[in-house]
Amino acid sequence: MSESKQKQPIDTGSWASDFEALLLLGTEYSGTAKPGDKVLSASSIGKELYFNILQVKHGKLANQKNYGANTTGSIYQLGLDALIAQYAEPGRYTTAERYKLDLGNGWIVSGEYDIIDHKYKIIIDGKVLSDSSYKKVIMNDINHDYNLQVATYNMLEFHKTGNIYSGALHIVNKGGSPSKDNVMKNMELFMHDVDTIKQMFIDRSEKIQFHLDNNTMPTDDDEMCNIFAYGKSNGSANRCLSYCDYNTVCPRYNNNTPYYASSQVKNLEIETPKTEEEYKPVEKFRF
Ligand code: SF4
Repeated sequence: MSESKQKQPIDTGSWASDFEALLLLGTEYSGTAKPGDKVLSASSIGKELYFNILQVKHGKLANQKNYGANTTGSIYQLGLDALIAQYAEPGRYTTAERYKLDLGNGWIVSGEYDIIDHKYKIIIDGKVLSDSSYKKVIMNDINHDYNLQVATYNMLEFHKTGNIYSGALHIVNKGGSPSKDNVMKNMELFMHDVDTIKQMFIDRSEKIQFHLDNNTMPTDDDEMCNIFAYGKSNGSANRCLSYCDYNTVCPRYNNNTPYYASSQVKNLEIETPKTEEEYKPVEKFRF
């Protein structure tokens, strides 16, 4: 957060909205992705090509105006940073350093890890998840979004310092319970090596470039968004309806509104999605 945003009076007329405004201010996106920037984030490689193209074309859309699931994750991350700053042995951990890697083809990979534990040479990424996401993430699939994210931080760290780290997740399960022993888990990750993940970014950037040059969008199934990744409500894809920043500019969504969204999208009826999305708040918007 910039100095100019700190400790400014907030007066919306109610204590509750003042407090919400404070939380949103403190978790506001700080990146600089602009439409057309040839920058991929650590989370890009785990998303579909279709989604990547909209990210690049439109950059980061306006900051969130309401408290969302991602806000909780941001606040948790701020808490971890403060805890490390206050209690950890000096030099043991570093937090939130941003690195960039030039892929040599006009594209850049940019990413900011959460925590490095220098004693054990491990990159730790914090996640606050729904119970359903928790169950998926602990399967530890090498191609899962989060495994790819941490492998990307390792690639960026290697190109900056020459160090190779292992990777881990620190996961908090919002739906966990002590009786099931699933409230929190610290888990080492299976990860692609530095050369493999770099090649994945090169291949992805070239595919994006192809579509930008030809003003096309992907049509292959495996390059389109998995719109039901977070379930559906009344036949509507929760991911598009409730969890995608690009739904207002997405041609697929807007050409198929009856399919993707029911009356909810027209504000005739607001429904609570049945499935909560996992969230990694800060990274979601950082490029
Ligand atoms: S609205 Fe749906 S189809 Fe369009 S980019 Fe978002 S998730 Fe993908």
